[in-house]
Amino acid sequence: MKLDHLGIAVADLDVALEFWRDALGLELTHVEVVESEGVRTAFLPIGDTCIELLEAIDDSSPIAKHIAKRGPGIHHICLAIDGLQSKLDSLNSAGVRLVDNKPRPGAHQMNIAFLHPKATGGVLVELAEPGDKA
Ligand code: ZN
Repeated sequence: MKLDHLGIAVADLDVALEFWRDALGLELTHVEVVESEGVRTAFLPIGDTCIELLEAIDDSSPIAKHIAKRGPGIHHICLAIDGLQSKLDSLNSAGVRLVDNKPRPGAHQMNIAFLHPKATGGVLVELAEPGDKA
């Protein structure tokens, strides 16, 4: 398992890039709209991991709801694992509350699933594995 990325909810991606890319100096490698998640994402690698900036593309986006409720800031952490479905099954049997019982498509051709923040002490945890392994 490794820390794949940190997801940060931003109100405006271009404004956020003025800090993360322009002022701080991280490299922007990838921008992608994930329609199913209602987000435009930007990836900025940092060491072995990555900052993922998330901007809502419409008001029904989970990111729009997050910002309305809590304001912009850290939204989730993502752990890359092998065997996502079997991990979800074992967490489920261990009584860990899941947002997704089954992996669904995310950015970067990864399959993703979220654990419920109530089960993790308030941290939204995303698990991900490359789509070709699912
Ligand atoms: Zn993510």
